[in-house]
Amino acid sequence: MAASSNSSLSGSSVSSDAEEYQPPIWKSYLYQLQQEAPRPKRITCPREVENRPKYYGREFHGIISREQADELLGGVEGAYILRESQRQPGCYTLALRFGNQTLNYRLFYDGKHFVGEKRFESIHDLVTDGLITLYIETKASEYISKMTTNPIYEHIGYATLLREKVSRRLSRTKNESRKASVTSEEATQVEKITSLVRRAALTQNDNHFNYEKAHNFKVHTFRGPHWCEYCANFMWGLIAQGVRCSDCGLNVHKQCSKYVPNDCQPDLKRIKRVYCCDLTTLVKAHNTQRPMVVDLCIREIEARGLKSEGLYRVSGFTEHIEDVKMAFDRDGDRADISASIYPDINIIAGALKLYFRDLPIPVITYDTYSKFIEASKISNPDERLEAIHEVLMLLPAAHYETLRYLMIHLKKLAVYQGEGPASAATNYRVTLHEKENFMNAENLGIVFGPTLMRPPEDSTLATLNDMRYQKLIVQILIENEDVLF
Ligand SMILES: [Zn+2]
Ligand SMILES: [Zn+2]
Repeated sequence: MAASSNSSLSGSSVSSDAEEYQPPIWKSYLYQLQQEAPRPKRITCPREVENRPKYYGREFHGIISREQADELLGGVEGAYILRESQRQPGCYTLALRFGNQTLNYRLFYDGKHFVGEKRFESIHDLVTDGLITLYIETKASEYISKMTTNPIYEHIGYATLLREKVSRRLSRTKNESRKASVTSEEATQVEKITSLVRRAALTQNDNHFNYEKAHNFKVHTFRGPHWCEYCANFMWGLIAQGVRCSDCGLNVHKQCSKYVPNDCQPDLKRIKRVYCCDLTTLVKAHNTQRPMVVDLCIREIEARGLKSEGLYRVSGFTEHIEDVKMAFDRDGDRADISASIYPDINIIAGALKLYFRDLPIPVITYDTYSKFIEASKISNPDERLEAIHEVLMLLPAAHYETLRYLMIHLKKLAVYQGEGPASAATNYRVTLHEKENFMNAENLGIVFGPTLMRPPEDSTLATLNDMRYQKLIVQILIENEDVLF
């Protein structure tokens, strides 16, 4: 579904009929229910209660029976008290009136109050949220189970009308003069664009490389009313009302997050670093085909380092490599890694290797790791190559592209060694520079094997056992031109 509607959006068939645009219709039913939900009514204890825990207030009535609690609540919706268990002293119970009955919940405290997953600063908040949740889930259970069936997420209208404004905003974000150049009138317009609109337009206009990327949802507490950008319904409750994608800022219900397609377009403002950032996240945030670190380092090395003895094997000064890393994290693709600052090419080579090692998921992913190792163990060279080729197809597209690009570069070193035009490269198959840099495919395999792949479990033994296979895989990728293309 998602893919087909996306592709229909991206074509030139998109009309610019602003008149057809319908403003987003946020569904307010659940919001109204939250407003209607019973409010907490704290029933305080008139006497001083001995042994009252510090973190409870006058709503604590000490050791009393269920019947006494019932009586105190007086059948008032939302009324609540806390009591200590008669049978298990030290255990505390919330007695709460809801739906004409008294509900009892065992209470816990670990610096915050909680019954289930959500943690609250105060008992009052816990009860408020509990009443909202009980009320909405009682009144609207059927509605909630069906609310994801007609999502507004893929609504075509959002992308069309505001397309131009949004892309203007995007271009400003890119050259970082946004704040300076936005007039107050424009700023108001920009504010009016909901994040949903922003997302729809991003999917359409700004994603040239179309790598799939899953959202990075984390439970989130929203201040003030918020609506789900998938189903358009209100996100109810006092805290932890839904989830937010840390990479693009998409806000949805927890239950809706399961239906959102893998179309995350990370927001550069949310991506703080270049190193240690997920590879696909980085390339989508910067809208590049590959991580720009890879392109910039390789360009620099090809310009001035191909003949350097022990290239990629000799290490540069760690502090200087860290310096390059900081420059990329700070300046992005404007980082200066030229010879005037880093005359030693091993620093650039080291920074590239460090980039690969710092990836949270290696270029050869954890998911495919053991398949690569198994493939490399096949003794028949043709079958082995075929098996490796098949596993390569399982890599995420941005990982595959990065690997492909790196291997072209290494091939130049190890096989072509060419300085001439690409068409003449085969003439340099005799490893001309290999005599100078002493780096053949096998040596490069030793260096890049463990850099590009790590076993999913951090086991020293597995790593040691696998080392020769890691080396072999890289060597095969370098030596066999067809396997990656
Ligand atoms: Zn996202
Ligand atoms: Zn939703």
